[in-house]
Amino acid sequence: MTTRDVCVIGGGPAGSVCALRLARLGHDVVLLERRPFPRPHVGEALSPDVPALLDTLGLRHALDGCLPAQGTFLRWEDATTRLLPPDPRAVTVDRGRFDHALLTAARAAGVSIRQPSRAGRPRRVPGGWEVPLPHGTVKARFLVDAGGRHRATGGTTTDTGPRTLALHAAWPGTGPTRIGTGPQAWVWGAALPNGAFRAMAFVDPDLVRRHAFDVPRLYHHLLDVTGLFEHRPATPRVAVCDATAHRADDPATEDHVKVGEAAFTLDPLTSSGVSSALHSALAAAVTANTILTTGDHRAAVAFYRDGQRRTTTRHATWTAAHYHRHDRYRDQPFWTRRAAPPPHDPPPPVPLTPNLHRPVRLSPEAAVRPTPCPVGDLVTTRRALTHPTLTTPVAHVADVELAPLLDHLTGTPTLAALLRAWSAHLPAGRAEATATWLLDQGLLELTQPPTA
Ligand SMILES: Cc1cc2nc3c(=O)[nH]c(=O)nc-3n(C[C@H](O)[C@H](O)[C@H](O)COP(=O)(O)OP(=O)(O)OC[C@H]3O[C@@H](n4cnc5c(N)ncnc54)[C@H](O)[C@@H]3O)c2cc1C
Repeated sequence: MTTRDVCVIGGGPAGSVCALRLARLGHDVVLLERRPFPRPHVGEALSPDVPALLDTLGLRHALDGCLPAQGTFLRWEDATTRLLPPDPRAVTVDRGRFDHALLTAARAAGVSIRQPSRAGRPRRVPGGWEVPLPHGTVKARFLVDAGGRHRATGGTTTDTGPRTLALHAAWPGTGPTRIGTGPQAWVWGAALPNGAFRAMAFVDPDLVRRHAFDVPRLYHHLLDVTGLFEHRPATPRVAVCDATAHRADDPATEDHVKVGEAAFTLDPLTSSGVSSALHSALAAAVTANTILTTGDHRAAVAFYRDGQRRTTTRHATWTAAHYHRHDRYRDQPFWTRRAAPPPHDPPPPVPLTPNLHRPVRLSPEAAVRPTPCPVGDLVTTRRALTHPTLTTPVAHVADVELAPLLDHLTGTPTLAALLRAWSAHLPAGRAEATATWLLDQGLLELTQPPTA
């Protein structure tokens, strides 16, 4: 039996894009997808960054037939309804078509696709993995689990938000997106490219358990309470699925990575599940490429694991702050379970000119330490700046390598002296822009009070 370089289980956005990147990097990749495509899937509203991300991969055609955003009727903080203008970059897609286009692009990039082909639980064998199929077996050196929420490789997870269920149904309809709230739920609804309108109510599982005898009635009640979903038919079929945010405890090892929803799931409030799945697929491709080509797994695994941690923590903080902005039902258990104030306000901007004579130092909470980061298609270790307010360690700001600049901070120079020293490394305008960014983030501190 031939041993492939990589076996990817799952042909959703994460699996297809990870497989495509690895094939373009010259690896021999096989992808297993259990269902024939196109197949229906929830997660149709793509965040505004997705089109640009697809452009960088030459995959913009996956958005053919998408529906541009229609604006949003938003009733979140209180009972006032506001109409937000559409973001021209945001779209809804038919996930059947979108996922099919990405899988087709992976095939065109050289990925060998087996579909429909359900992978059994993979087994570690000498030199890699064996993946049982209904008819035969696939062998590969490296495994990518892109099996979605249910993870083909198993393993434990940690919740990063309260347990949540989604109740959803679709009916013929058009018009702006709607986002509303009730004491026991928040509800999202949007028009889809196929002329349907889908609405989802997000609730505590306990509520569904108590209404298990009549879930459609509960669904309609939750939509009615928001006051935003008039003129809809009595929908016969309401689906229920898990929408809890969690992360896998073992997202990467020296011979496997989990990508997309197999690695982590986000609270649907962020509407960025597909975007995050694509980003994780690209990070996983760099991780796998590093391990397969250099054999050095330490930095690669740390890079992938740290990225997963940072993404889930950042989203959990953001969603809690967003739930916190809701006022009307803030004392209800559904809301108290989810809301938390934002951890800190950003410091006020610091102008350079009036402060040039003041001594400057690195914030005592900041540190420059060796950190694994992607350089081209490989993970390498670089000196990067860390600080509690940074969502990720920073090695470069707009192509400027930070560590050599920060080395000039020994002896507490004045801001003017620091900028002079930096001008040996980069043009004056960029030195000033870098100093402004560091001061505004609270990474550089002025140590004496300003003169009157
Ligand atoms: C209720 C809800 C609403 C959401 N709304 C949004 C939204 O509006 N916007 C957004 O961006 N995201 C949204 N998401 C998240 C979004 O759906 C996911 O982030 C995205 O689908 C993840 O892609 P993936 O490739 O990781 O997994 P999936 O798209 O789930 O793909 C996994 C694939 O693996 C295949 N597979 C699984 N097991 C096997 C096996 N053993 N063998 C072979 N194949 C297998 C499956 O058939 C499937 O095709 C939502 C999620 C939920 C639950």
